[in-house]
Amino acid sequence: MTYPTTPSYLYTFSVPTPFPVGPVNLYLAEGEPLTLLDAGPRYDPARKALTEALAERGYRVADLQRIILTHAHPDHCGLAAELVRESGAEVMAHAETGRRLAPGAEAQRVAFYADVMRWAGVPMEVLTSLAGARQGASHYTEPVTLDRALADGDTLQLGGEDWRVLHTPGHTGDLICLYQPQRRLLLSGDHLLRDISSNPLVEPPAPGQSERPRRLVEYMAQLRRVAEMDIALTLPGHGPPITDHRALIRERLAFHEKRARHILETMGDEALTTHEIVSQLFSGLDPINHFLAISEVIGHLQWLEVEGRVTRREQGGVARWRGKTRY
Ligand SMILES: [Zn+2]
Repeated sequence: MTYPTTPSYLYTFSVPTPFPVGPVNLYLAEGEPLTLLDAGPRYDPARKALTEALAERGYRVADLQRIILTHAHPDHCGLAAELVRESGAEVMAHAETGRRLAPGAEAQRVAFYADVMRWAGVPMEVLTSLAGARQGASHYTEPVTLDRALADGDTLQLGGEDWRVLHTPGHTGDLICLYQPQRRLLLSGDHLLRDISSNPLVEPPAPGQSERPRRLVEYMAQLRRVAEMDIALTLPGHGPPITDHRALIRERLAFHEKRARHILETMGDEALTTHEIVSQLFSGLDPINHFLAISEVIGHLQWLEVEGRVTRREQGGVARWRGKTRY
């Protein structure tokens, strides 16, 4: 499918994923080097759809010369290693994506998540089922090595035109978007999706740092940054193109403000763990959604903390949050 204002060298298609998010959008930039933006999950139906989409344009996987990854989630990069083996394509992504996709990185992340869940006050039996669910997701990905790390402000060529790299941490710490200023076109990855609010996920601190990243705080800052930009069309990692990025960003910012207020009201005057707050907000969550809820509530609590609307006290490795007296 080609959208009216996309360049003719950019071919958009989607491949299925085994995840609740549904299909993922991939972008093929024709010309030298033949470039694929995101690779899809390591999943048979995705492999088949990708091969067919390439064939429609007269290519085989072996023809790929470059693969750019927007972030290290299995739905976007699970198949990358396999495509590289078949094509010898060079892989580019943010340095942080490289660290996350390196061999052995998954084991470290599992340890981190156990740690953060304890910090959130999640009971042991829930922790065990969460670990099981995470292992399920790692089945759809494989480690891959970067040939070149991309950073904010870098320029690269797609279809003979200059595209600028934007590092937009939030949904994940490594997420990049690509921007073509003359066409006012943004490839947004999962930073901006029309029908889904990109849940900022709790993540391990960057190497050499002990501070937990405040992903929602970063996400909102990066949304405001993109709102300032002159963009005619946004092509996202999932779902349809976005024609009014500013209206969508206003909606997202309002949603998070409302959610934060709701969390604050639910907390009352007690000092609660994140898990206790999540239990008051939601019931009957399966392990994956429980993890997402913990992640989301941590994001909002960290933001409320930065805004001075909650305080945090840590005891025995568990954080408790208390709302400040209403203004
Ligand atoms: Zn995604």
